Amino acid sequence: MANYDKQFINGEWVSSTGTGTIEVVNPATEQVIATVPAGTAADVDAAVAAARAAFETWSTTDVDTRAKYLRDIGGALLGKFETIAETISSENGSPKQFAALVQTGMAVGEWETFAGLIENFEWETRVGNSLVVREPIGVVGGITPWNYPLYLIACKVVPALAAGCTFVLKPSEITPLNAYLLAEAMEEAGLPAGVFNMVVGTGPDVGAAISAHPDVDMVSFTGSGRSGAEVSKAAAPTAKRVGLELGGKSANIILDDADPASVGMSAVFACYMNSGQTCQAHTRLLVPESRAQEYIDAVVAEVGNVRLVDPAADEPDIFHSLGPLASKAQQDRVRDYINKGVEEGATLLVGGSEQPEDFPTGYYVKPTVFADVTPDMTIAREEIFGPVLSILTYTDEDDAVRIANDSIYGLHGGVHSADQDRALAVARRMRTGQVDINGAPFNAAAPFGGYKQSGNTRERGQWGLEEFLETKAIQLPV
Ligand code: NAD
Repeated sequence: MANYDKQFINGEWVSSTGTGTIEVVNPATEQVIATVPAGTAADVDAAVAAARAAFETWSTTDVDTRAKYLRDIGGALLGKFETIAETISSENGSPKQFAALVQTGMAVGEWETFAGLIENFEWETRVGNSLVVREPIGVVGGITPWNYPLYLIACKVVPALAAGCTFVLKPSEITPLNAYLLAEAMEEAGLPAGVFNMVVGTGPDVGAAISAHPDVDMVSFTGSGRSGAEVSKAAAPTAKRVGLELGGKSANIILDDADPASVGMSAVFACYMNSGQTCQAHTRLLVPESRAQEYIDAVVAEVGNVRLVDPAADEPDIFHSLGPLASKAQQDRVRDYINKGVEEGATLLVGGSEQPEDFPTGYYVKPTVFADVTPDMTIAREEIFGPVLSILTYTDEDDAVRIANDSIYGLHGGVHSADQDRALAVARRMRTGQVDINGAPFNAAAPFGGYKQSGNTRERGQWGLEEFLETKAIQLPV
């Protein structure tokens, strides 16, 4: 049984300085499964002091030793694979197989990736008479959401430790339990005290204290734009670096030569993955007016294969199995958006805002598709974060690109075409950090992050490592 009533500070499990607690709820059963501390600013002070004290030694620990620790932590996580998958599934409702393959598999994989990356990274270069050296930025505060809880923690903690930074993590208060397993893995790997610390609590208390802390050199944040703006404001007086990974309203452009059958499966999964609780979700499907009905029919047929499931059941088809949403608040929010879509005149083709008949308990939302969506409608503009697909039509390629780029967001997108060069030309015109062509697979080594209000940073691969580095130029006499 993990130390769910404690914080992890300076290599020890300690009680919070506060007395408040937070209940963790299983979204499929609506039952409380654990209680964790509602941390305080004083807890953050202690964690930051520990991280600061550990920085001097960790930042000068040689790369091979750091790489060994990373591999040992990855190994310790691998030993807990099943427990982690079950824990994530019980906290955020991901079906068991998805929780294992995607949620846990990707989080465990990062450790070996970054161990290899730092062993081959160019830490120093010569520019004329200057020696340009890359150094860890210092103490990093990481603030993370609930949708891919451990993977999004890993996208910060792994490169930060790899870079030589020390870390204070505040996981989402909705899904904190998996982070306890991570802290245990750090202990098992014998990571020196203070290199990794964890303070569990709410955003306004713990997250805000980390963001404002004068001894935190960088805040790495993933979450909503609203909270990201609060982090930036709190961080501004101390001029710390702020990396923001925020929301999206990604467009999936179907060019008029794309095969409807392959579009159907790919487009529905790209929107519904993780019950639509994916920042990059392709929630706006842009189809050509000339062939709209064919693509709509293919999508509706594919949604017919999607099933709501009990996350604890054995459902091997991860492409068509949707669990509940992660919280009651999220379910309410998504249902409100569905109602808004109907009120504003979109055509509800599949789904709706009612509780699904088969699942009277649990924060489930029916897989939903709207047609006749216009770019000014709320469901075409705002991030919904649920299984809701909005289908819009366009007249020609220029119109498709214009509609796709008509968003405050710029995280991701897709293009489908029988002609890859044609798709690539459209992908280059999209103002987003990533674009998938014909449903191409996710690449964990490629830079990930947003244009516009989707953020200001890149995670993953060498770009993810560089986010946690300072750059120093030392001039040598000529
Ligand atoms: P959220 O903003 O509500 O919470 C994210 C984290 O911020 C939580 O740990 C929360 O406690 C903390 N927080 C809240 N208020 C804060 C404050 N004032 N100061 C500091 N921290 C604060 O987001 P969420 O609902 O947990 O996650 C969903 C959002 O995350 C969506 O908008 C989604 O698109 C985004 N997201 C983005 C990416 C990406 O890589 N771009 C990935 C996943 C999720």
